[in-house]
Amino acid sequence: MSTPHPAADPAAGAAVKAADRAHVFHSWSAQGLIDPLAVAGAEGSWFWDYDGNRYLDFSSQLVNTNIGHQHPKVVAAIQEQAARLCTIAPGFAVDVRSEAARLIAERTPGDLDKIFFTNGGAEAVENAVRMARLHTGRPKVLSAYRSYHGATAAAINLTGDPRRWPSDTASAGVVHFWAPFLYRSPFHSDGEQQECERALQHLEDTIAFEGPATIAAIVLETVPGTAGIMVPPPGYLPGVREICDRHGIVFVLDEVMAGFGRTGRWFAADHFGVVPDLLTFAKGVNSGYVPLGGVAISAEIAATFDERPYPGGLTYSGHPLACASAVATINTMAEEGIVENAARLGERVLGPGLRELAGRHPSVGEVRGLGAFWALELVRDRATREPLVPYAAAGEAMTAFTAACKQNGLWPFVNMNRTHVVPPCTITEEEAKEGLAALDQALTVADGFTV
Ligand code: PMP
Repeated sequence: MSTPHPAADPAAGAAVKAADRAHVFHSWSAQGLIDPLAVAGAEGSWFWDYDGNRYLDFSSQLVNTNIGHQHPKVVAAIQEQAARLCTIAPGFAVDVRSEAARLIAERTPGDLDKIFFTNGGAEAVENAVRMARLHTGRPKVLSAYRSYHGATAAAINLTGDPRRWPSDTASAGVVHFWAPFLYRSPFHSDGEQQECERALQHLEDTIAFEGPATIAAIVLETVPGTAGIMVPPPGYLPGVREICDRHGIVFVLDEVMAGFGRTGRWFAADHFGVVPDLLTFAKGVNSGYVPLGGVAISAEIAATFDERPYPGGLTYSGHPLACASAVATINTMAEEGIVENAARLGERVLGPGLRELAGRHPSVGEVRGLGAFWALELVRDRATREPLVPYAAAGEAMTAFTAACKQNGLWPFVNMNRTHVVPPCTITEEEAKEGLAALDQALTVADGFTV
């Protein structure tokens, strides 16, 4: 598909960059070492700069534009809502907010029928933790190593990314455990079934040593995203559900990245037949057109706050523009079969295509994923599984790989020694194949760094 884009205007691009450099302080970056691309526009699976280059968005930005860029139905819904009612405090009943909540509740699994809105994923996690503590009267929260839950106080402490900083204070009450990951098994298992059993036993042991009566919640990404798209063995999440039930622990599934079609189902939990007590969402709920996140709450936990107040809130909770974009996004995804498109794409194009690339490129250690949610684990040595760059470090090999992607018109999502293949769920088969061809070129560069 050839997407129209405006004529090149390098002078305008240079001005945008200079203005950015003057006053914008960027996330997750050494300010003096970055050179952000000046973006002129976007449409569907593409965005473009001021120099006449366009990029196929295999990142979906931060894995949020599930519906693609600038979907006309969502843009129109935001414009209509802006003309009608831009803002109203969370305490009022508003049609667009109740409709967004209804559409979300209808799709979340089980009896997660009440929706608390936030402005994004981290705030959703913060509130899920607060709800679990108030519901149980217990202090501790367990979460997995190799996870990402956000960059606010509780969320960053729950995050079990290998990276650690002096600013995250290892808050009291957060305990990490290992979740299953056969390729780099913390349990040294030699098969998926064994990995699952050992991971569940390890969780049981952690709970026993921490004291079950002190644990409010277990927080897990259904399919850990930022840390490497590690699809758990089929029995793992049902096993965690059973452990939570036995100990009266609230089970929180974080679907901020995996939810709203990304895995080829509305929620990743649907693949495993599990219903958590709380489910956090953001990103795909409205593709990030206006910041929105939230917590879907079970009937039992919601009832905790029937007679006593919930002590938490945000000025912009359930913001009308964000909710209007969620209503339009969810309705459009349903009307246009976008979740089904992600599933079909994963099965027919991305999965087979990425495995074919792995067969030819020695730098690919493992391919894993589902739907429009895939990771390639890049290695220096397939036999030892030594990562292409050390953990938690940038490195020449990944820098060269990333540059090669961009030279070939592909915008990748790169994290440590991995590239994630996470295009919009709306991507066509033709575009996906174009992206795989660009990836093929870039992997040849990565191969040059193998032993
Ligand atoms: N949880 C998960 C699983 C995420 O992937 C993210 C963001 N990558 C967050 C929480 C935090 O979301 P936000 O950046 O919107 O605060």
